[in-house]
Amino acid sequence: MSTERTWAEPYKIKMVEPVFMTTEAHRKKAIEEAGYNTFLLKSADVYIDLLTDSGTSAMSDRQWAGLMMGDEAYAGSRNYYNLVETIQKYYSYKHVVPTHQGRAAEHILSQILINEGDYLPGNMYFTTTKLHQELAGGKFVDIIVDEAHDPDNLYKFKGDVNLEKLEALINKVGANKIPYVSIATTVNMAGGQPISLNNLKAIRKLTNKHGIKIIHDMTRVAENAFMIQQNEEGYENKSTAEIVYEICSLTDGATMSAKKDAMVNIGGFLAINDPEIYVKAQNMVVVYEGLHTYGGMAGRDMEALAIGIKESVQDEHIKARVGQVFYLGAKLLKLGIPIVKPVGTHGIFINAKKFLSHVQQSNFPAQTLAAEIYVDSGVRAMERGVVSAGRNKETGEHNYPKLELVRLTIPRRVYTQAHMDVIAESVQRVYERRDSIKGMKLIYEPEYLRFFQAKFEKL
Ligand SMILES: *Cc1c(COP(=O)(O)O)cnc(C)c1O
Repeated sequence: MSTERTWAEPYKIKMVEPVFMTTEAHRKKAIEEAGYNTFLLKSADVYIDLLTDSGTSAMSDRQWAGLMMGDEAYAGSRNYYNLVETIQKYYSYKHVVPTHQGRAAEHILSQILINEGDYLPGNMYFTTTKLHQELAGGKFVDIIVDEAHDPDNLYKFKGDVNLEKLEALINKVGANKIPYVSIATTVNMAGGQPISLNNLKAIRKLTNKHGIKIIHDMTRVAENAFMIQQNEEGYENKSTAEIVYEICSLTDGATMSAKKDAMVNIGGFLAINDPEIYVKAQNMVVVYEGLHTYGGMAGRDMEALAIGIKESVQDEHIKARVGQVFYLGAKLLKLGIPIVKPVGTHGIFINAKKFLSHVQQSNFPAQTLAAEIYVDSGVRAMERGVVSAGRNKETGEHNYPKLELVRLTIPRRVYTQAHMDVIAESVQRVYERRDSIKGMKLIYEPEYLRFFQAKFEKL
């Protein structure tokens, strides 16, 4: 008898939301009307929605109960103080400014900390983070380890920073041109890859030496902590909650999209230890979001968030959340589908360059593949490749990233194992007829974050 016992989700279903399968003819028409951009599909035309794990998680009965405890006072809501206490307890940060979502926190922080001509090193870029750094006059510099750019490299901590790259940048431009190092847990654009605590400690040591801050994009910190517990020496007996606290303690502040890890449908915050930056952020949030004790959030949403933070760091929860992603990953690997390895924590990233190896990157293989999967089964994925990477600010040419990926993002606590099986089967079906798939051309492109609204035509 095997000693490994089967495990199951640490919850049962109390309420259901029906989903509907459509016909292939219907989906063909829908995706054509959407300009072959899955962001422009109507959700009613989608069967299994893997567009994003952002704001799409299922709240618990406790969180829904929290909504009823909303204190909607304009100033000084008790939910705000509860949220601050929760963030201090689980994340270590001293001061908190609530925002409507992560990018609002990025905007405020970028405007406060970045001056024209500054450099912002980070463990790979994130779309909104980089844009706000640029809008504030900064220039993003990728200092992630080279392994992160190779979808087949099995290194376990592809979110790590290459310290030599960071040191070289400091020596080249000077520490006074680097307001902070951006550290994401986990690294979304690398395929949901974690950073190790060992590496973070080394970054802290180096930045301390030069008086440079570390700002933490803590969107998926619990998932990162879980991977440290699983794979980093010395952490196997620590709880996810303890590791989360340690990660945060090594940084000076954070921006949070609470729509991911913390399982609320909307919300985020800026957290910071420095009281002077806090005062500036408090002042800026009233211009762009709302009074500093609610920022961009309703009282009830702050309550649901405080509860979500506690739930997000529970070992049983995170094991099932990441376990479901790994289940789908293992299945796709068994079918021979080229995906980013090791499997990340919030979704499966299909290597579209390999999947559609006959389609030039200038014909948008990942954008094409996401559309094909939708037509096959109504499963909605999204592009993370040349469309997401945008254009070079100086030359106006497309940025051609090494990674050309389709992301199958798994919302938390929403779908079952049977849904995972349906997804795998659909990807397999498209893989079998991959040779007949042609690329696309761009017919409309907005100025900012083009992947959200760009439109395409089949070649
Ligand atoms: C989603 C996300 C953001 C931006 O947060 P929003 O809530 O979508 O504004 C920033 N960084 C990472 C890593 C994200 O995944």
